[in-house]
Amino acid sequence: MVRSAVFLAGLGAASAFVAPGVLPAGSARAPQLRATRMSAIPTVPFDSVTPTGPSGPTLPGDGDLDFLEAKPYWDQSGVTVNIAKQKDPLIGKIVSVQRMVGPNAPGETCNIVVDHGGKLPYWEGQSYGVLPPGIDPKKNKPYGVRLYSIASTRYGDDKTGKTTTLCVRRATYWDPETGKDDPAKKGVCSNYLCDSKPGDEVKLTGPSGKVMLMPEDDPNMTYIMVATGTGIAPFRTFLRRLFGEATPAAKNFKGLAWLFLGVANKDSLLYDEEFQVYLRTNPDKMRLDYALSREGPLNKKGGKMYIQDKVEEYADEVFDALDKGAHMYFCGLKGMMPGIQDMLQGVCKAKGINFDEYLEKLKKNGQWHVEVY
Ligand code: FAD
Repeated sequence: MVRSAVFLAGLGAASAFVAPGVLPAGSARAPQLRATRMSAIPTVPFDSVTPTGPSGPTLPGDGDLDFLEAKPYWDQSGVTVNIAKQKDPLIGKIVSVQRMVGPNAPGETCNIVVDHGGKLPYWEGQSYGVLPPGIDPKKNKPYGVRLYSIASTRYGDDKTGKTTTLCVRRATYWDPETGKDDPAKKGVCSNYLCDSKPGDEVKLTGPSGKVMLMPEDDPNMTYIMVATGTGIAPFRTFLRRLFGEATPAAKNFKGLAWLFLGVANKDSLLYDEEFQVYLRTNPDKMRLDYALSREGPLNKKGGKMYIQDKVEEYADEVFDALDKGAHMYFCGLKGMMPGIQDMLQGVCKAKGINFDEYLEKLKKNGQWHVEVY
């Protein structure tokens, strides 16, 4: 009884975060006070944190959600890929595009909701492809597909099962010779998506990928999620599935979801308000650690705090969890992996573990999930 009351309180608040930003993409957001609970940053005492989102009207679909569940819900034998292919994409519609980051974030990241009309169902951890319009001048044929990790659960943020949320960072090109951005070399698809308007049509492919699925057959699972930047997308999905919706998966979950996110500074944090609600309502089932490379605090060697430094702080706990069967996930720019691997190698050496054998074992057991780009 107590548990479900807490759960529903969390749900109401989480629903308030369906729209994480308030201004159209391209405009800077007014600075706002963020209540954070992290070991990396001096914190507001957690008990005094109040969700800041509006407690707006209840959305359709609040309450029990199971109309898109497999039977039993953890059975992944029916996970589909490539329902829509590049040659015959699904025409979706943009529902909303919202800037997610504050004025001091380097670059722009947008939360983009797309209506797929229920025709492109997906599982948490999968990606969509987007076909930007236009001709690739290098190949003299239409631009190819770009993949984007899905940031909503299968129900979509509106819980209709008909929408998908993407978390897209505008790719820009900084010219070292001029010391300025060169708009002629900006990324095609990311800028197309971030500049799109509600009602615009968008060509979608997918869903794709099975590497990042959640092993829900074990409700006591420990998920260790390591993200940089937009790599947060699949983990926002996981956390929403575990703590933000009244699905059988969420109701049965008794394990731990531990997120490490690396971004430049506080203004670059993504979905933080939503995560704070989950932390508040599930303090025994969730952990959250941020590494803010341009803001500090510094790592133990006095250098910038990168994601691998933050994970290293908890190396004993992470290794202990992996030894007990935890699944570890990585998502974000591929440049994050060498630092992670070096750090893990160093920890293994200190513990007298053969790193290659250790990693091989994790991979063989299906505990190691990497999707970097
Ligand atoms: P492109 O047009 O493909 O350009 C790529 C880069 O080249 C850009 O930085 C551009 O500025 C630069 N460039 C262009 N012309 C030149 C030139 N002449 N000289 C030098 N540089 C040049 N991205 C996300 O934002 N969010 C996600 O959730 C996400 N998930 C992904 C999941 C997977 C599995 C994969 C594989 C990728 C994912 N990506 C994600 C990356 C995404 O697919 C695109 O690669 C990204 O958006 C850039 O595409 P673009 O079309 O904007 O850039």
